Amino acid sequence: MAESIVPPAVSSPIGSAISPLTPLPLRAVLPWAVFVGTLMLVLLYFVGAEQGATSVFSGAGVHEWVHDGRHLLGFPCH
Ligand SMILES: [Zn+2]
Repeated sequence: MAESIVPPAVSSPIGSAISPLTPLPLRAVLPWAVFVGTLMLVLLYFVGAEQGATSVFSGAGVHEWVHDGRHLLGFPCH
């Protein structure tokens, strides 16, 4: 007696069987990927270069807030 290793399909409350894995279309993912990528680049700029090599805000507040992260990621600081 061979048992099936295929997982059973998940049934919706309506009663029809749906696949547990539904692929996401690239059109749905691409705007979020661009948004998160841009956010990460801005964060990387503020951690790595703000109030060091370049400066958008005057003073040293941003530098003090991200100082440990700057050292942790290996950016030159002081
Ligand atoms: Zn430092």
